[in-house]
Amino acid sequence: MQLQDKFQRSIKYLRLSVTDRCNLRCFYCMPDKGIRFLPKEQLLSYEEMLRLSDLLTSMGVDKIRITGGEPFVRKDLIDFLEKLSLNSQLNKLSITTNGILTKPFLPHLKALGINQINLSLDSLNEANFNKISRREEFSNVMNTFHQMLADGFRVKINAVIMEGINDHEIGDLAELAVKYPVSVRFIEEMPFNGSTNNHTTIKWDHLKILKELKIKYPDIHKTPTPGNSTSENFTFQGAIGDIGIIAAFSRTFCGSCDRIRITSTGEMRTCLYGHNVLNFKQLLREGHSDASIISKIIDAVQKRSKDGFEAEKLRDKTNPIGESMSLIGG
Ligand code: SAM
Ligand code: SF4
Repeated sequence: MQLQDKFQRSIKYLRLSVTDRCNLRCFYCMPDKGIRFLPKEQLLSYEEMLRLSDLLTSMGVDKIRITGGEPFVRKDLIDFLEKLSLNSQLNKLSITTNGILTKPFLPHLKALGINQINLSLDSLNEANFNKISRREEFSNVMNTFHQMLADGFRVKINAVIMEGINDHEIGDLAELAVKYPVSVRFIEEMPFNGSTNNHTTIKWDHLKILKELKIKYPDIHKTPTPGNSTSENFTFQGAIGDIGIIAAFSRTFCGSCDRIRITSTGEMRTCLYGHNVLNFKQLLREGHSDASIISKIIDAVQKRSKDGFEAEKLRDKTNPIGESMSLIGG
């Protein structure tokens, strides 16, 4: 069976948020103070996540990315990943991390066949990194980065570009692709920051980011981009890695979106900009059968919006965009 929406987009990719907690406070993602992290019972248990993963992979999902909050903040993550990796219908298991606690677990990840890691790194300047993340963890993150390379992981660097904050570092961040075989992905800032301060326009959209890159690397040019990719990919002379630009705010890639999300509170989203469409936690805890959950998933996916703009319009007006990305799962 292949899960498909009414626009014939196959759903192949699950982003699974395993926690709302984090050891950073990146200001574009969550407020510094006043965050109320959820009690454990309000998160899905690992057993519940495994059951949902089994159901979704039986419906054609073949790629799962673990995200959060910071995944490594949750206890026993490796045991969970070990169980998840036994799912024979899964072609790819990957993880997005801020790198703070990740280094000691790299050998475990390797052993589980997790070869690709997305590392969030918005600045190469320690003071600026601290300002953005509101914590002092730069050296830990960089140590993890270098260890990941030494261990042969495929590394993607995620950098959210923000006006007056790290826009002056676009060139330096891109240079990582000259020094190392990494993908440096520049991400448009989205309004999911856990506050009511939600921007409706951005200065650093994908076009402006590319224009800036062209100043330093005039020969930068597109490379073939897989159909379901959210990033437009580029290379330039001298690069041993590559560059990706993710139009997460401009939403240029919705037409081929193959992903769904399970939030840390156990709800399904068929679009990042939309509302929750299915409460898995409730279904599981009420004792619904696999068949019942499967039919609800099919139904919810059928109702999926055409794109992120339509999904945003259909949101409940009492629940405007602005929740923290750490809840939704990035
Ligand atoms: N804590 C992990 C990390 O930072 O890599 C995983 C969770 S984090 C929510 C996943 C990704 O979402 C990160 O790469 C982060 O940069 C991105 N992100 C968070 N808030 C964002 C926002 N408002 N706009 C764009 N990207 C955002
Ligand atoms: Fe934490 Fe990741 Fe959000 Fe930063 S982006 S606060 S590391 S969840």
